[in-house]
Amino acid sequence: MPRTAERSYSGGMSNLERRPEEAAGGGRAAVADAPVRELLSGREVQIGPRNTLVTRTLPHRERRMVGAWCYLDHYGPEDIAGTPGMRVPPHPHTGLQTVSWLVQGQVLHRDSLGSEQLIQPGQLNLMTAGRGISHSEESARGAPALLHGVQLWVALPDRHRAVEPDFAHLPDLPVAGGPPGLGAGSRVTVIMGELAGAASPARTYTSLLGAEVALDPGGSIMVPLRAGFEHAVLPLTGSAIVDEVPLAPGPLLYLGTGRAELAVRNDGAEPARLLLLGGEPFDEQIIMWWNFVGRSHDEIVRMRTGWMDGHEFGTVRGYDGDPLPAPPMPATTLKPRPSRPPRG
Ligand code: MN
Repeated sequence: MPRTAERSYSGGMSNLERRPEEAAGGGRAAVADAPVRELLSGREVQIGPRNTLVTRTLPHRERRMVGAWCYLDHYGPEDIAGTPGMRVPPHPHTGLQTVSWLVQGQVLHRDSLGSEQLIQPGQLNLMTAGRGISHSEESARGAPALLHGVQLWVALPDRHRAVEPDFAHLPDLPVAGGPPGLGAGSRVTVIMGELAGAASPARTYTSLLGAEVALDPGGSIMVPLRAGFEHAVLPLTGSAIVDEVPLAPGPLLYLGTGRAELAVRNDGAEPARLLLLGGEPFDEQIIMWWNFVGRSHDEIVRMRTGWMDGHEFGTVRGYDGDPLPAPPMPATTLKPRPSRPPRG
């Protein structure tokens, strides 16, 4: 199978690294048992037509997961005018849900269930891989020039990780705090989970939270949180001050557990948008490699073989190109383990 075209934009929507390493994550020992403020620099994954900014902040060597959130790529804003735009050929997933969230642009999703969906800003597209699914993502014909978004994965707990695959397009998401919102000049959209009495219709398999916090210049809010959750904040546009930490797009601010609320304000001249992630600490230990989440190296090898044999992940119809071949397995293998001892 040929590689995707060199000039096409392929950041963010899937793990397209040519030599991905196995990564272990999960387990209580990896979770800060108190509020912390850790600024985690992302790893820039160089793919795309120009100086595409694709920043991967999860998994991070310091913090592999935030609740069940196990993967976070931030791409753009990127001007794709005059390029083929995003072209991510059919590829498989297992044991996870993908959350596609756009700030700008349009992406066309197709999957092996027969779904074909235009992904637009402010709408949740949630794909549950479960026992296995394959999908493609590409710039829609006539899409706006600017492409900007995040791609996240949620690890499924063992008892649900072999569920039937599913794709849900959820265009109407609730706003926390109802019409008045949580504060003047603010809008908090609940993408996954529940916040301040507003619950997303998205199906989840662990207790978690995903929300987009939008603040006008001068806006300030206190976001209620669950003390038992881990939390983290990723700035998407503009700048903001989160628990007294100044933030601009790039790093992920990991906040630990034990917080009942979070102060966010926008002292800048531009509107700010931030992604707030949270979740109950993920007790199980996982192995991630390429686009698979499993529990052991041998299981990952079997998933890879199932994809390369071509008959375990269905067929994506309508994509103009060949499926993505799996990279070679790394020479070193991992066993699941806590990512690091707890901080004192
Ligand atoms: Mn994908």
